[in-house]
Amino acid sequence: MIPAAPATPADQAPGGFPRLDLRAGRPVVAVDVGGTLTKTALVDGDGEVLEVRSEPTVLRSATGLLDQLGLAVADLAASHPAARPAAVGVHVPGLVDDARGTVLLAENLGLRDVPLRDQLAARTGLPVSLGNDARGAGTAEFRMGAARGARTAVVISIGTGIGAAVFVDGRLHDGDGFGCELGHMPVLVPGRRAPVVCACGGPSCLEQWASAGGIARSYTRLTGRPVRGSREVFDAARAGDEHAARVVGDGLDALALAVAQLATVLAPEVVVVAGGLSRAGAELFDPLHERLEQLLTFHRRPLLVPARFGDGAGVIASALRADELLEVLALPQQVGPPA
Ligand SMILES: [Zn+2]
Repeated sequence: MIPAAPATPADQAPGGFPRLDLRAGRPVVAVDVGGTLTKTALVDGDGEVLEVRSEPTVLRSATGLLDQLGLAVADLAASHPAARPAAVGVHVPGLVDDARGTVLLAENLGLRDVPLRDQLAARTGLPVSLGNDARGAGTAEFRMGAARGARTAVVISIGTGIGAAVFVDGRLHDGDGFGCELGHMPVLVPGRRAPVVCACGGPSCLEQWASAGGIARSYTRLTGRPVRGSREVFDAARAGDEHAARVVGDGLDALALAVAQLATVLAPEVVVVAGGLSRAGAELFDPLHERLEQLLTFHRRPLLVPARFGDGAGVIASALRADELLEVLALPQQVGPPA
């Protein structure tokens, strides 16, 4: 994976966070569960991030993780008596059924079929909303970041794997938890055979070609030389290494193909690229533009832009998620005609 560029002010907690656009105007706890670190944050009713905590994620134990999250929420609430949280928003990496609040499969966390939403609600006494991290980060970009103002947009998160969030006419499309899995879009790069079977079993998934992890693995397979991450491959390509240039080129070809399919079907106004790879700047966006131009004809050209939020996107997304839940809970309940 490409090492992160030095943290931008927007990534620095807590003072560097932008004021969040909370509609319900009530304090919330934001939980961003990662494969390595879990961040929890308390956000007040004005959208100010008061505090962010980060600790290693308890892995391979649903009970252990729930204990960790329950304790973190209680600690944050106790530290800020003036901002009593009204809801908790949680994002996890993996397949999530948002409607049921269940983690279907999170390989990086070692979890399968865990009703995390209801169990965390029981532990904290607060309403909880649970979602997938890439779709959450996409929502942060859609509501407050690089896709703000668009009606139809795609946010592609490129890291170890590839995730996405697809917004159509202002709404996130989640396909009951199975949608937006752009990393597993089959792509056949011209002149290349499939590099390797994907973890999902697919013969030529996008993330095997174009994720930071996929680029590093492709280079090692081609040359036998191990690399620490895709940054090293990009550096080698720039220094004239033909194998590295070929691997990077294949990744860009695959990504351009995927964006072309999205442009054909959805005609998004904006395509946001998030994750470590998006920090490659012109090195990524210029050749991607070029390749896309070669593929598109009548299609509407999406604006291709880097994400606004970096490492802080998960916290922002989870706060927005909790806020959306409070909005829904505040709606008048239609239970039938008045007596
Ligand atoms: Zn796959």
